[in-house]
Amino acid sequence: MKLVILDRDGVINQDRDDYVKNSVEWVPIEHSLEAIANLTQSGWRVVVATNQSGLARGLFDMHALNAMHEKMHRLVGQAGGRIDAVVFCPHGPETGCECRKPLPGMVLEIAERFNLKLEGLPLIGDSLRDLEAIAAVGGLPILVRTGKGAKTHMSDALPEGTLVFDDLYDAAEHLIHNY
Ligand SMILES: [Mg+2]
Ligand SMILES: [Zn+2]
Repeated sequence: MKLVILDRDGVINQDRDDYVKNSVEWVPIEHSLEAIANLTQSGWRVVVATNQSGLARGLFDMHALNAMHEKMHRLVGQAGGRIDAVVFCPHGPETGCECRKPLPGMVLEIAERFNLKLEGLPLIGDSLRDLEAIAAVGGLPILVRTGKGAKTHMSDALPEGTLVFDDLYDAAEHLIHNY
């Protein structure tokens, strides 16, 4: 099975310094919906793994998060794509949970649920912690330069073997044509 894990904020939708707190603030990045549709239509499964510490911080509640994800599913569907699952970490950094990236808890959960091998499993993200979460289990880290990605690209701590693309559209094209 071909499956790609996507970070959400800064990859699919525009990130905000004050957190994406409701469905109105959930605004897709140009061509990201089309990118997911192309993946779907090329036989890829798409799963989202996202840190949502805004829940722990009290910036929004589950009702608002569900509304954001309903909007995401609806817009992706209208574009001709499909997101098979959304996994999120609701905790803050001080909780010490195992799901918050850069820890690989969500990646492991997805791999178990979809019966995937971890080696080479691709994850597309815009932050160092996305890349670290997938590199920790031997997967393929892919950085996009949207969201925080341009800044992340300047880091000298990118995991070895990280691929870099301008945006989700270009990263998806690479996966579609090379795997
Ligand atoms: Mg992000
Ligand atoms: Zn967590």
